[in-house]
Amino acid sequence: MATLGNPKNTIEVLQKYNFNFQKKFGQNFLINTGILEDIIEAAEITKDDFVLEIGPGIGTMTQYLCESAREVIAVEIDKNLIPILEDTLSAYNNVEVLNEDILKVDIKALAEERNAGKPIKVVANLPYYITTPIIMGLFESHVPIDSITIMVQKEVADRMQEGPGSKEYGALSLAVQYYAHPEIVVNVPPSCFMPQPKVGSAVIRLTRHEQSPVDVENEKLMFQIIRASFNQRRKTLANGLNNFPGLNLSKEVIQQCIEELGVPVTVRGEALSLEQFAQLSNIIGKHL
Ligand code: SAM
Repeated sequence: MATLGNPKNTIEVLQKYNFNFQKKFGQNFLINTGILEDIIEAAEITKDDFVLEIGPGIGTMTQYLCESAREVIAVEIDKNLIPILEDTLSAYNNVEVLNEDILKVDIKALAEERNAGKPIKVVANLPYYITTPIIMGLFESHVPIDSITIMVQKEVADRMQEGPGSKEYGALSLAVQYYAHPEIVVNVPPSCFMPQPKVGSAVIRLTRHEQSPVDVENEKLMFQIIRASFNQRRKTLANGLNNFPGLNLSKEVIQQCIEELGVPVTVRGEALSLEQFAQLSNIIGKHL
């Protein structure tokens, strides 16, 4: 039975091992069973599933995952947590803990080896300092993913969901929405963690699209254009593209491409939808 997830049991484990929180690893442990249950429910884990957990901490959510999934691999960077995890997960025989930095793990090979290349589910209460590289790494390296259910900073969750016209809309929104459908599951106040973070959090589920929602001839070029457009947010799209290193297009060609898209040449990047960025990259691609 999952026994952690409340302040009393968490403190007991921390004291038993004389554990010191490491700020550099973004360690804020969940101490609210209601939120843990919300995460497990949103992730829709079944006994057929292979789950990758990033940053298990003392194993609070891992216990829940072990009870719902077929197999769990939990990747934890902090070596001081390994003996604790051996203890808190000793009742489960369907879990393996890897003492690694998730950014250095070949997750594609792991999915291939452990789940015969079939889509895996990723669940994590993420260390906020590496949220974006983890998510983008999972998508861009084409790891077979069914869904990613993660706790992130509230502001970042909002950014992933936004569309044109919102001030939160940016390169992260477009990248996430290109690969997945984002849905905020629940907002989580600082009081649900030990120690309490300074910011609010939210659980967001990213369900991988089976088919890309837009037609793009050159993904890499589209993301270069997106980065160029939001690099200088206050500038027009034309200026952003003109000043971006690596895109060697003349001012005239850029203007012509924007006109071909059917929007005013004075448009700002933040006004374009994912569909329009895809179209623009297809148009620009013809001029390269
Ligand atoms: N899952 C636990 C919970 O909900 O209570 C802990 C969450 S805590 C926010 C983040 C965890 O990720 C910590 O245990 C931390 O040591 C671990 N971590 C931080 N950076 C990591 C990395 N690069 N690779 C793997 N784990 C990491």
